[in-house]
Amino acid sequence: MSFVITTDCIYCGACIIECPHEAISKRTNKKRHLSKAKNIANDSLIYINYTKCDECVSLESPKCISICPMDAIKSSNRNFA
Ligand code: SF4
Ligand code: SF4
Repeated sequence: MSFVITTDCIYCGACIIECPHEAISKRTNKKRHLSKAKNIANDSLIYINYTKCDECVSLESPKCISICPMDAIKSSNRNFA
C-alpha cells in the first residue's frame, strides 16, 4: 500500500472520475469495507482499491494526486510535486 488519502479530503469525487483504472470509490457501506482492512488507508470515506491501482506508473504523475484540490492523496513510494 503506497497511496494514502488523508483527512484533508473533502469528498469532492474528482479523483474517482480521473482514475484510469476505476480504483477509487466512495464507501457506501463502511462495515463491509472495514472487513478488507488491508485495503484501507485511513478512515476517509474515499477508498482506493489497491488491487486495481497501478500507481499510474506509465504516467508522469498519478492522476489522482494531480487532480486533488486538497493535496489529500499522498504516496509513500514516489515523490510528486
Ligand atoms: S495512482 Fe492512478 S491508478 Fe492509482 S488510484 Fe490514483 S489515479 Fe488511480
Ligand atoms: S480529489 Fe482529493 S479531495 Fe476530492 S475526493 Fe479525491 S482525495 Fe478527496
